[in-house]
Amino acid sequence: MSTSNPPYPEDFAEDFRETLAFHGHLCLDIAVGYRVAKAAVAAAQAAGADPTNLVAVVGNDTCAVDAIQRVTGCTFGKRNLVPRLSGKPVYVLQDAATGVGVRLYVHFWEQFDADGSFRAAMRAAKSGKLDAAGQAKFQADQEALIRRILEMPDADLFTLRPVHAPPPPRSGGFDAAPCAGCGEHVKRTMLVDGRCAECRSEITYSG
Ligand SMILES: [Zn+2]
Ligand SMILES: [Zn+2]
Repeated sequence: MSTSNPPYPEDFAEDFRETLAFHGHLCLDIAVGYRVAKAAVAAAQAAGADPTNLVAVVGNDTCAVDAIQRVTGCTFGKRNLVPRLSGKPVYVLQDAATGVGVRLYVHFWEQFDADGSFRAAMRAAKSGKLDAAGQAKFQADQEALIRRILEMPDADLFTLRPVHAPPPPRSGGFDAAPCAGCGEHVKRTMLVDGRCAECRSEITYSG
């Protein structure tokens, strides 16, 4: 039976199972994100952040971010999940009022698959070209690695340090004005020379 899709192993912690249900599949990055989020919440609170008024800043837009959202309660729609896409697995959790918080960098990815064999197996599994036994082996290997991630000491997964920086500005309000090109209403601060990103061809939905 595939373990990448529901039902998930029943011996996983309840909040990890809830995270998997939210995310929709089992993968390494959701397990890493779960560990990061749990540690970040605990460390931010220990540093004096108000756990009811947190803001998360994420450096990438991978599976881990679903765990950040599910575990911290900071979500894109509530505007307390802020993408600052540096392309790094960096996650910052701060008190939205004081800026007190923590920054985590996941160094686990630097070494976890030094010979590339896991990623090669994952590509093969996703290609659909593996037979049933090959798929089962990949799923078993992946689950074993996920179990290791769930048990690893924090220091084997990430570095964590306190931060005390201004929290990201709250992007509230929707002061809109018509675009000079298409006439559609646009958040005023997103207009450049009166034109929206689509009319500037920075975003296209052709075809
Ligand atoms: Zn995933
Ligand atoms: Zn326009």
